[in-house]
Amino acid sequence: MKVAQIAKPGGDFEIVEREIPEPDAGHVRIRVQACGVCHSDVLTKEGLWPGIQYPRIPGHEVASIIDQVGDGVSDWKKGQRVGVGWHGGHDGTCRECRRGDFNNCRNLQVPGISYDGGYQEYMLAPVEALAAIPDALSDVDAAPLLCAGITTYNSLRHSGAMPGDLVAVQGIGGLGHLRIQFAHKFGFDVVAIGRGSENAAVAQKLGASIYIDSQETTASEALQKLGGARAILATAPSSKAMSELVNGLGPNGKLIVVGVAFDPIEVSPVQLITGSRTIQGWAAGTPADTEDTLRFAELSGVRPMIETYPLEKAAEAYARMMSGKAEFRVVLTM
Ligand SMILES: [Zn+2]
Ligand SMILES: [Zn+2]
Repeated sequence: MKVAQIAKPGGDFEIVEREIPEPDAGHVRIRVQACGVCHSDVLTKEGLWPGIQYPRIPGHEVASIIDQVGDGVSDWKKGQRVGVGWHGGHDGTCRECRRGDFNNCRNLQVPGISYDGGYQEYMLAPVEALAAIPDALSDVDAAPLLCAGITTYNSLRHSGAMPGDLVAVQGIGGLGHLRIQFAHKFGFDVVAIGRGSENAAVAQKLGASIYIDSQETTASEALQKLGGARAILATAPSSKAMSELVNGLGPNGKLIVVGVAFDPIEVSPVQLITGSRTIQGWAAGTPADTEDTLRFAELSGVRPMIETYPLEKAAEAYARMMSGKAEFRVVLTM
C-alpha cells in the first residue's frame, strides 16, 4: 500500500510502499477513502508533540470503510463506513475515564501522532475511536467534520448560548466556515469576524447576519454596540486577535478557544470579573459526539467547502493548508 510519511521532525513528506498491516484484538483495519488535512498535522510534521515516534503518518480526519476486524470485535462489521477523528482511543482505566470523561483521558491517543493516521491507503484503529458515517454524507464531506466539524459543533452546543443569542465567530477559514453554518443552523444571531472585505459575501452566504471587517473596525467595540456576544468562538490561530476579543463579550459571555497557538492570550482580572466573563479551551470530543456532529450535518445540510488532492500530492495539499489560502478545508483522496 501507498503511504505519505514524515521520517523525522521537520522532514518532508515521503510517498513510500508499506505492507498492509493486520489488526490486533480490539482493532479494525480500515480502507481510507478520504483524509482531511488539519492545521494540527503540524504537530506531526514538525515534531511538536512530546514523545512522538518516527517515521509517522499524519492524519486525523479519516473517512473509511472497515476492511478487516480483529479478535473480539463484534459491534463493527467489514464493509461498514466509519470515521476516525482526533479522539483516537482512550485507556478506559484512568481517573477521567472512570468518571466517564473520555475526552480528557490522561492517555488519549491521537491518530497521526500516537499511531499512524490517515495519509495512507489502509490504517489500523482501536474500536473506541470509530464513528459511523451516515449514508447521506460523502467521504470527502465527512472527513473535515471529524475534527474541524466536531470541534466547532461540540464547543458551540456547550457554549451556554441559546437560540436567538448573539454569537460571534472569529476567522472565516477551515474552522470558521463550519462554525458559521453550525451557529446559523442552531438558531443563533451570527456575527462573523474576518480580515478584509472579501470574506463578507461568503460569511453571509454561510449564514452570518452581520460581518465585521477587523481591519476596518475594532471587533470588540462593534460587538459591544450590538449588546455584546454571549459566545465568541476564536478559530483563527492568533493569540493577539483572541486577546482583543475579550472586550466584545456581553454579560456571562464566553470566549471559546479552538484555534491552536502557542503564545499567551492577554487578559486582565478586571475584564473577566466585569460581566462574569469566561475563557474556555475546547478540543474535539468523543466518537459519540462525532456521530452527533455527522447526523446534525446530515439533518441540517451543513457541509464543508473543500479542495481535494490525491494522496501522492500530500506535500502540496499540506502546503496549501498551511498557506491559509485554501477555501476552506483540504482533503486527500485515496
Ligand atoms: Zn484536527
Ligand atoms: Zn483514560
